Amino acid sequence: MTNLLEIRDLSVEVDDQEIIHDLDLTIPEGEVHALLGPNGCGKSTLLMTIMGFPAYEMTKGRILFDGRDIGDLDITERARLGIGVAQQRPPTLSGVTLLDIVDALASNAHHKEAVDRMSDVYQIKPFLDRDINAGLSGGEIKRTELFQLLITHPRFAMLDEPDSGIDLESLALVGQMVGALLSKDPSRLAKRRTALIITHTNQILDYIPVDKAYIMRDGRIGCSGNPHILIREVRKHGYEGCIACLRAAREATI
Ligand code: ADP
Ligand code: MG
Repeated sequence: MTNLLEIRDLSVEVDDQEIIHDLDLTIPEGEVHALLGPNGCGKSTLLMTIMGFPAYEMTKGRILFDGRDIGDLDITERARLGIGVAQQRPPTLSGVTLLDIVDALASNAHHKEAVDRMSDVYQIKPFLDRDINAGLSGGEIKRTELFQLLITHPRFAMLDEPDSGIDLESLALVGQMVGALLSKDPSRLAKRRTALIITHTNQILDYIPVDKAYIMRDGRIGCSGNPHILIREVRKHGYEGCIACLRAAREATI
């Protein structure tokens, strides 16, 4: 399978401060990778940079999507290539309803019908006429954010903590939505779509199979491997324990 995303030697600055340093990451088409790591280590910064938000300045390295260097493309052009993100803390938009967005994104009557069915299944209907995210609970925000991504069904989905700050009922719905988001693209060979999922609680990983996980620390990927083993270690020892283990492994090789 070809690599859909390839990041080489990437450094990123926000407000003139370097947040990500010399980072490499490769995701083959059809694989789902998980990014774990303590608060403030740069996980969201990485996603926002891949999406092309202007506040995140690439100072070094390359981002290749389907073999093409996307470093100079703006956010709209990247979205057109099939890159999509569900943000950790999406903004509230006054004067724009979810229905406005659905109408803009649903391309034809057939698509509108499918979207209508999905809004029923994922219990989105009550929020359609409200301003985006205005007065919604944590779980409701996560669901409306994922719903907007599902409508466009991107080739590569980035999900920033879809499982944070939500109750168990919302978690089950979020799990189903992520499952739908990763469903096979009939026009491609891969058995499912490609994704990078940030999770702080790891709860979403009970709902979807993940091929590989990384632990990020201080803007660098410190460790990668079998998601079940990494998650078990993080659950047992916390990030500090994992980092101590990394340090010991590094010292052993010096
Ligand atoms: P994580 O998602 O791993 O919790 P973030 O990527 O959100 O971490 O943040 C990494 C670091 O970058 C933090 O120290 C944060 O304060 C800083 N940072 C992120 N975005 C901005 C921004 N827009 N302006 C200033 N600092 C930022
Ligand atoms: Mg974050």
